[in-house]
Amino acid sequence: MSFPTRLRFFSLFCVALTLAALGQTTAKLQTSDTILTLEAGSASPRLASLTFPGQPTWENRASESLIAFVEISGKQAPLNWTFNREASQISEQQVAFVYDSATPHLRLTWEWRVRQAYGPIEHLIRIENLEAQEIWIPMQDSLAFNWQIDPQSPLEHFFVEKGANTPSPIGTHRVALTEGYSWIGTSSTYGDLRDDEPREIIPWSLVQRKDAARTGWYAGIEFSGRTRISLTREKNSLQGALGLNLDPGPFRTRLTPGEVFETPVVFLGGFRDGPDGAGNVLRRWVRAVLGNPETWKNPNYPLVVNNSWGGGMDINEESARRMIRDAAELGVDMFHIDAGWFRGVGDWYPNPQKFPHGLAVIADDAHQHGLRFGLWVDWTQAGLSTEPGALNARDPKVHDWMVTDLPADWKPEPFKGQTIDLGAPEAKQWAQQEVERIVTDYHLDMLEHDGYLVAHGCDRTDHPHAAPDPLNLCIYKSWGSYWVDSSNSTDVSYHAVRAYYDIYSTLRKNHPGLLFEVCADGGRMVDFGSAAHGDYFSITDTYDPLSNRRAFYDTSHVLPSAMLESYVEKWSTPRIDNFRYMLRSGMMGWLTIMIDTSSWSPEQRAEARREIDLYKKELRPLIRDANLYHISPRPDGMHWDGIEYWDAHRQGGVVYAFHGTMEQEKTHSFALQELQPSARYRLRYFDHSSPDRTSSGRELTERGLQVTLPLPNSSELIFIEAETN
Ligand SMILES: [Zn+2]
Repeated sequence: MSFPTRLRFFSLFCVALTLAALGQTTAKLQTSDTILTLEAGSASPRLASLTFPGQPTWENRASESLIAFVEISGKQAPLNWTFNREASQISEQQVAFVYDSATPHLRLTWEWRVRQAYGPIEHLIRIENLEAQEIWIPMQDSLAFNWQIDPQSPLEHFFVEKGANTPSPIGTHRVALTEGYSWIGTSSTYGDLRDDEPREIIPWSLVQRKDAARTGWYAGIEFSGRTRISLTREKNSLQGALGLNLDPGPFRTRLTPGEVFETPVVFLGGFRDGPDGAGNVLRRWVRAVLGNPETWKNPNYPLVVNNSWGGGMDINEESARRMIRDAAELGVDMFHIDAGWFRGVGDWYPNPQKFPHGLAVIADDAHQHGLRFGLWVDWTQAGLSTEPGALNARDPKVHDWMVTDLPADWKPEPFKGQTIDLGAPEAKQWAQQEVERIVTDYHLDMLEHDGYLVAHGCDRTDHPHAAPDPLNLCIYKSWGSYWVDSSNSTDVSYHAVRAYYDIYSTLRKNHPGLLFEVCADGGRMVDFGSAAHGDYFSITDTYDPLSNRRAFYDTSHVLPSAMLESYVEKWSTPRIDNFRYMLRSGMMGWLTIMIDTSSWSPEQRAEARREIDLYKKELRPLIRDANLYHISPRPDGMHWDGIEYWDAHRQGGVVYAFHGTMEQEKTHSFALQELQPSARYRLRYFDHSSPDRTSSGRELTERGLQVTLPLPNSSELIFIEAETN
């Protein structure tokens, strides 16, 4: 970074500290997109306002609602919070207002921090038990606000679903936020487990004014446990809250002497230019703040992968070696063994019939072919194997880690067992050692976790989390696992998720460069907490071209494209155009091919090689670094859809164009974004569906980029480059 750049960097931060007559302390934190004014009242703090520079301010009328009591020895004790000016800290990048309660003795820290010169600002609340005995605290939201609004002002609410299981027909929601609007969106690690539950959101929401600059604010949650975001509009008020999920309740969590409760970290940012304007800042911020620098340092990230699930559970040494040779020939970066390699669920040792020489020799073979080696492990699932080293649900030593007593006839499914509660310290310790052993012994470059990693609920009374309410306890079975629903479910997830984060932080420290795939039954754990602890997400569990494009369309509003993995599975491709369409539907982010590639015809092989080469040379740099625009409505499979990547530094980009099943719609125009009206651009149609030509930025923005594809289920990639002369 050159010296003048650094000066600019720091000039973006400005902090004001004023001691007003009423003893109020005010501070300001700022990035290029977000200005927050923060006030310390005598009994509670307040986010006073949020502004996108140069645009109208959102004024907040509500002080932060701090917990009003704790429970000690079964009795409620009220809290009186008092601002502690001496202990509070204000710096250019952080504000921490401290509040104390004398009796019972607790300390609360209300913290905001700037992590980059641009983008949103983070917030969390810490509550420390300074008593000499155990206390119980009720729900403390991460953030609650009450924006003062003009009752007449038109507002829009924008949010996206997870691609869990199968992307729904809607996925990306753009809703008029009118008088009386009342909404709650929830997220957990096991969304859409049951059909009677509403679809989960990626824990994030955006509210936009319908003004010319399309400005507003957005907020998200950096936590994978049970969380919720709420929004209500009534007259001149827009109220909302972000934090742990209150339902089912009442929530309570234990604090041992000296222990600290931390609310899930949330971020809050201003934006302009609508959801894509917000997304282009947020994705960059996620990469810089939450992403793993070791991972992004590798110019080959995101990788091209060949995954063994195309052959199902039948993987063995011979087929693995064949897939490795084939993957290397195709130009793939990593060979990834999916389920089927192990002795049994919970028994994460190579099946001796399938892998008589173990797994390390397979990893070494991949390495000799210039490939990385990745492995699927459902490492929180117990089974019934009695082999040494196996996690056996009937073993008296581990029996208590199960979330409930299993019936005598319980059996695991072929690759699904009973989730253990990672929040139990001994279970966490076992899991830490087990993943360490797996990574080391099998020479892994990538570890994928799948299944339901975090317990859904737990009826144990001797775990650190709260006990369930025996009068409100529901136990049911799904996917070979028992699940518990009770008043303590949110607290169970709070402890288990923190244990999961600890386990992966330690593993990452011990193995720099090791990659983590966050799967959780395809797209159930897509949130900003797992973004901070993993390297990429399986974004859906349905792998046809339309589902892949839908899940990408939704998820790419908030997370870096490089982190968004599409599994491309076998699909009917009578023509080579359909084959390209299938591959490219998974080539907008991280590409994993999940097809037995030996089934491909020579023509398909040649085409796949060419596409992988194109991906690595021309698409991957844009996927990593470029801005992304959703230049069509969400894919419906019938009409056209497309996305645009535009890299302002290179003055180049690409449009992915997809033609659905409607045969009569042979031509479509995509209105492009971010081009200079007066500049001229060279257009290169990669498949030569149209002759290459040049066009003005004005034409491409206003009349659009015209693409003609006569065949249904076909595609084109149009590379765009600014003319330099
Ligand atoms: Zn438990």
